[in-house]
Amino acid sequence: MTKKTTIIPITLPTPFDVGPVNCVLLKGDAVTLVDSGAKTEESRSILISSLKEYGLTFKDLDQYICTHYHPDHAGLSKEIQDFGIPVLMLQEAVPYVSVDREFTEWTESFYMNLYDAFGVPSSLGRIELLKLRKYRTFSNPFTPDILPAPGDAVSGHDGFVFLKTPGHAPDHLSLYSEGEGILIGGDVLLPHISSNALLEPPSMHRADRPKTLLQYRETLQYLLTLNLEKVYPGHGEAFTNAHDLIRKRLHDHNDRAKALEHLLSDQPLTVFELCARLFPKLYEKQLALVVSEVVGHLDLLESEGRVSVDEKKETFYYRRTGVVR
Ligand SMILES: [Zn+2]
Repeated sequence: MTKKTTIIPITLPTPFDVGPVNCVLLKGDAVTLVDSGAKTEESRSILISSLKEYGLTFKDLDQYICTHYHPDHAGLSKEIQDFGIPVLMLQEAVPYVSVDREFTEWTESFYMNLYDAFGVPSSLGRIELLKLRKYRTFSNPFTPDILPAPGDAVSGHDGFVFLKTPGHAPDHLSLYSEGEGILIGGDVLLPHISSNALLEPPSMHRADRPKTLLQYRETLQYLLTLNLEKVYPGHGEAFTNAHDLIRKRLHDHNDRAKALEHLLSDQPLTVFELCARLFPKLYEKQLALVVSEVVGHLDLLESEGRVSVDEKKETFYYRRTGVVR
């Protein structure tokens, strides 16, 4: 007889703007922790005492699954691995979590070159780079032990499989039980905020930047084909109205794209100029997020033929084509 899996969210504080993060404890034939919070003293001690409430320590886990490489989810992965617990992530996570030096340098030069092309002043670009370096210190480098393929069964949790759900992060995975309609979704779908499709470098030495908002929208369309009774998100409370929320997110993308298209009515603009116009209060403080948001929606408009890009002196200017959709 296999045991039905009990799902226990554990909420931990983070030092980031996003606020608290949810890890999930799964108790079935196996004991599994999904995500581990940021690497801070406060978060570590709350995670340890939360596990203790269920009579558990890190050593008692059969496996540890990390939804994606962002430090608010992956922060204590290395510490848990050091107790001999196997760490599972998608293959796409490896260069990010192992913090391979060549990959880190490639990532940084990718962002600096792209920011230049987007018309971001170099002083602001450098500040974002320093913020990225600081952000990465909230997780220690590690190498996952097991790289499950999408569709693989989650061992010890009858009915659960791994899903590949990229867009918010290139390595994003979710756990799904079709029979119960349960999604343990990390940041793929959040109840209170739209999940940002962050700008990411292409794989090493490849020229094409992944179009992360388009990837994310594909993931959302895929989720619409699934029976989703209940979603356990990485931030905020568990919720039941997933299909409505997905349709709202897709609709909001279209609205934002329309607003950008409108800003391009009179003249071509750079990404940075669009950031300042669309998010006048936010763009300096949260430039990386704002650039991702703007570029994602420009990618969407470009995929529909509604904007085109001209390169002038190595700077990209986005122009409205007038194609109506
Ligand atoms: Zn997160």
